[in-house]
Amino acid sequence: MINEEKIKDAIRILIAVADDFTPAVFSTSYSIEDMVVTDLIQRYVPDIEIFTIDTGRLPEETYQLAQKVKEKYQVNIRSYYPKAEEIEEFVLLHGHNAFYENVDIRKRCCHIRKVEPLKRALSGKKAWVTGLRAQQSITRAELPEMQWDEQFKLMKFSPLHDWSNQDVWSYIYDNDIPYNELYDEGYASIGCAPCTRAITIGESVRAGRWWWEEPDSKECGLHCPANVAKATNKETASLTTN
Ligand code: SF4
Repeated sequence: MINEEKIKDAIRILIAVADDFTPAVFSTSYSIEDMVVTDLIQRYVPDIEIFTIDTGRLPEETYQLAQKVKEKYQVNIRSYYPKAEEIEEFVLLHGHNAFYENVDIRKRCCHIRKVEPLKRALSGKKAWVTGLRAQQSITRAELPEMQWDEQFKLMKFSPLHDWSNQDVWSYIYDNDIPYNELYDEGYASIGCAPCTRAITIGESVRAGRWWWEEPDSKECGLHCPANVAKATNKETASLTTN
């Protein structure tokens, strides 16, 4: 059973974002964390627009979930796609699955398929809401509830920053929220189909993402710890009074 205070805290953050940082957007990848945030937004702050990045390499199960979300919440979620000419050039040069060859090529693929569409999605926005949690990986261990994102030049909010994996699943089950069927097959974090696998007992939540790489390189360029700065005390104080 999740501590009710954590739910209230997440709602407090979302309401503060909607009140003080319009226009604000939430990016969903249809992860369990993003399903929790989607549910909270639809209940309490539906003015926060939701979008997703469709890389073109997502598992079929993710598209099935996207359809369920549309029907359950009666919400239109815009999909941002990579630029066709950039994909054509990348595949022409490297082939379809070159991301396994080295980290640079993998990051180039992530840049074309994720980062560039995300830049367009965040353009002109004041705040970006995410479903990130500090416990997800060593690259996110210091995650605060809000921070300035230098890469995209806007405030970034993570209302589930202090939630555990168990907290997330409790909320999902308690509220009968649909989730990606791949979780029932041992997946713990789901991205593009060729870069995600199920994990085994004892592995970390993000172990199934780019499993052939070292843990400290496992980000796709969307959430770069080096590119963010923690919010100032003043900013934090203004948020916590809401
Ligand atoms: S996760 Fe894999 S397929 Fe998806 S954008 Fe990154 S490298 Fe490309």
